[in-house]
Amino acid sequence: MPRAWNATRMVEFEFGSRGKNKIKTYLPVATPQLGQHEIDYVTEALEAGAISGTGGLFLERFEQRFASYCGCAHGVATSSGTTALHLALAAIGIGPGDEVLVSTLTNMATFFAVLYQGATPVPVDVEEDTWNLNPALLEGLLTPRTKAILVVHLYGHPADMDPVLEFARRHHLHVIEDAAEAHGALYKGRKVGSLGHLGCFSFYANKILTTGEGGMVTTNDTAIAKRARSLGSLAYGPKQKFMHTEIGFNYRMTNLQAALGCAQLERIGEIIDGKRRVARLYTEQLSDVEEIRLPVEKPYAKNVYWMYHVVLTAQLARDRDLVMEKLQHRGIETRPSFIPYNLQEVFVSRGLTRSELCPVANRIAEGGFYLPSSPNLTEEEIRSVAAHLKDILGKIRR
Ligand SMILES: *Cc1c(COP(=O)(O)O)cnc(C)c1O
Repeated sequence: MPRAWNATRMVEFEFGSRGKNKIKTYLPVATPQLGQHEIDYVTEALEAGAISGTGGLFLERFEQRFASYCGCAHGVATSSGTTALHLALAAIGIGPGDEVLVSTLTNMATFFAVLYQGATPVPVDVEEDTWNLNPALLEGLLTPRTKAILVVHLYGHPADMDPVLEFARRHHLHVIEDAAEAHGALYKGRKVGSLGHLGCFSFYANKILTTGEGGMVTTNDTAIAKRARSLGSLAYGPKQKFMHTEIGFNYRMTNLQAALGCAQLERIGEIIDGKRRVARLYTEQLSDVEEIRLPVEKPYAKNVYWMYHVVLTAQLARDRDLVMEKLQHRGIETRPSFIPYNLQEVFVSRGLTRSELCPVANRIAEGGFYLPSSPNLTEEEIRSVAAHLKDILGKIRR
């Protein structure tokens, strides 16, 4: 297997058996963009001895700057996107007996977070073109126990928020955005993470902006921010530090990671421009292929194309794994689409959900995969990936 998230774009890839391994250049799906500022800031944090998650100039700076980049008043840095999601749900008091409407096609961390709180996730099927939560389905899933909606801005395209927010207002529900894949994406000119009551970000190594591992909760609500900060740092007592009045978590980001984040934030514009350039070039190359659905950009959206995700349609969907395997043999890494909640073994086997609940997401999961999407891919590399893909599809068709 190729080494994951190698710092260089091209990594050596060994394959073949019978002792004699061929070495080929290999195009991974994503690599972090790291440079001298990242090294300088982390070094500065180290030299200052500020290495933990309590205190350190970079932590405060990163929280403030990232929140303000998102158009939010507050940011609470966390150890991961998963812990950001859990903290967000804990901070608004989601608990046993509550139902949370969740976009079914996502990283399962989104669903796990609901389950950590002992609440019940209710999967919502997605739109055919954006692959995001379909707001038209909310009404039919509402019960007296519904407390919140957890939308996901999948693969960098913002969900259609206005109908979600309107529905939530009417029924007094909280709206949480899982923006782990959509740093900097715009909905009607506004940044994701600032549209609902809370936004949750991930800074894992392959995300648009990285701190290695890490995350953040963003919000404009001062009380929620305060509560998230307290719960995420062991809920130390208000009067006597070690006298606790509730159960907290240690979900803190370290100052070392925040130093990395500050450097990354300086280049986020460049990263997003790169992602959009890659997407435009792929779309130019692939728009004449009938059997592939390409990512869209709705009139209300600025897509940041975290990953260039495509879906093989109809008959070809069944050959998805074969197509991916053939690309792999030509030195091109791909990843399959997420598998929706309603198809997950862990939940179906426990009778928590049924596979047929979300037919649109099921079709996308069957035929979907994403192509190398690093922002610094050259035009030549993108043309080459597209040409290989077309060639492989042509051969399968025949
Ligand atoms: C990556 C991701 C997460 C989890 O973030 P981690 O930092 O890996 O914990 C959650 N939701 C979505 C949509 C993601 O892509």
